Amino acid sequence: MAPAPDQSPSQGQSVNSAPAAIELRGISKAFGPVQANRDISLTVAKGTIHGIIGENGAGKSTLMSILYGFYKPDSGEILINGRPVSIPDSQAAIRAGIGMVFQHFKLVQNFTVLENVILGAEDGPLLRPSLRRARGELQRLAKEYELNVDPDEVIEELSVGHQQRVEILKALYRQADILILDEPTGVLTPAEADHLFRILRGLKEQGKTIVLITHKLREIMEITDNVSVMRRGEMVAHFRTRETSPAELAEAMVGRKVLLRVEKSPATPGAPVLEVRNLRLIDNDKVERLRGIDLNIRAGEILGVAGVSGNGQTQLLELLGGYPEPGSKVSGEVLVNGQSLDLTGARSDAGTRRKRGIGHVPEDRQVEGLIMDFTAWENCVFGYQDAPEFSNGPMQDRVAIRADAAGKIERFDIRPPNPELAARNFSGGNQQKIVVAREIERNPDLLLIGQPTRGVDIGAIEFIHKRIVALRDAGKAVLLVSVELDEIMSLSDRIAVMFDGRIMGERLPAETTAQELGLLMAGVAEPPADADNLPEAGIPPAQKHVENLPGEPA
Ligand code: ADP
Ligand code: MG
Repeated sequence: MAPAPDQSPSQGQSVNSAPAAIELRGISKAFGPVQANRDISLTVAKGTIHGIIGENGAGKSTLMSILYGFYKPDSGEILINGRPVSIPDSQAAIRAGIGMVFQHFKLVQNFTVLENVILGAEDGPLLRPSLRRARGELQRLAKEYELNVDPDEVIEELSVGHQQRVEILKALYRQADILILDEPTGVLTPAEADHLFRILRGLKEQGKTIVLITHKLREIMEITDNVSVMRRGEMVAHFRTRETSPAELAEAMVGRKVLLRVEKSPATPGAPVLEVRNLRLIDNDKVERLRGIDLNIRAGEILGVAGVSGNGQTQLLELLGGYPEPGSKVSGEVLVNGQSLDLTGARSDAGTRRKRGIGHVPEDRQVEGLIMDFTAWENCVFGYQDAPEFSNGPMQDRVAIRADAAGKIERFDIRPPNPELAARNFSGGNQQKIVVAREIERNPDLLLIGQPTRGVDIGAIEFIHKRIVALRDAGKAVLLVSVELDEIMSLSDRIAVMFDGRIMGERLPAETTAQELGLLMAGVAEPPADADNLPEAGIPPAQKHVENLPGEPA
């Protein structure tokens, strides 16, 4: 094993002979029967941004947790700045100059930013003089790295993006030279992610070394210098980012060629399936979430709704799917196959919608799409359990339901292929496949689908996209809501952009650009002449409080 810990936080750099910031040699780690890391070697050069990419479960977090002293490797060596170190705990990692920003932040929610930053740092949290010094240091760091946060703000009052900045500050305050970020953009809006990347570039310019774990190819291409690919516990490839491509990385991640762009023929739209007219919704907090939505989708057509989350897309999907937030006020008209849909009455529930041929893959699969404690086979039929093929007289036909679930598990490659497992024991991507399988295989006339591939691996994304296109090609209508502009651009036959509860405009994918859509997403219908004065895309609009819908007595 490695010799005693290296106590010095960092050492001077000499440009030519600088040792690697991090060198891992032959790291292995098993959790029971699962070989999470197998003989991993990795070299991260000083002052670079190094991406580690791989599908869910590839072993990325385990490897970085070993580097941060959370897990002890079964074998292998770690060198920091050329010196062998042993990292038995996170204090040792900090002494070695390593900081980590976890997927799930480890901040104390009812403490201030300042208190969180100094918590556990050398000089003890509650000494006044040290508090003053810490405040000064925090302000200096925040300024130097564009990490604007108020030191006296309580953590629970901060947005996720700001909480993440506090985590970064915390690491910098401990004089981290190496910063590891585990899937940092999963919880961020596009604008917050852009800001994070600016921060990371700034850190690199100051000579810091950054390890960025992600499964998003675009982030790797955008910001890293080098990238290492993990698959099923092994390190399978290393690339210089500018010498590789998304297609090559995807193939290395998945182990086979992956289509990153959906292949589809032009749409041949038929009769209108969904017609939405002047749809309005005021939620329980008296915020007007839908402010007069008009849209149409024809048979054999995918309408993509683009927008930064929080602009009414969620309410639109929930309302059409039959479960608006209780207490919401709704007005307007919705026709499905030419027949009016009951929006507020006794027949406005999700069950009736399903019987009308409306399938729904909700944005939040864990809350609305699945019953987490129920088995996979039960979830595969959830909502459709009363259908004739699943009933045996007044009884449920469990044999038929189980057989149906087994088919879905096979066709959608749901892993592990165990129908008796509770939904909560599947990974996010496989949970999503359960919901998508259930809704698509019902062959609905209208499929409402929100964030279809959030948290889903690349291989499964390709598969889910193909199934959505196949449904369209079978003459069905699809309403797709996604915050991933790439997904909207590649799947949609038409794109509607939502901002502040309204449709800002509709575009054809072939006739628009990400820039134009980005402007619409920020609420700008026509590019203004003064291009310097653009609003920052991605900022959700201010909430407006209203009591009554138009035409309703006050
Ligand atoms: P990634 O971060 O690439 O998604 P992880 O490193 O989290 O992958 O997981 C790699 C494998 O190790 C997975 O199969 C996961 O289920 C397993 N694993 C990770 N942490 C633990 C743990 N604490 N106990 C048991 N198994 C674990
Ligand atoms: Mg992980």
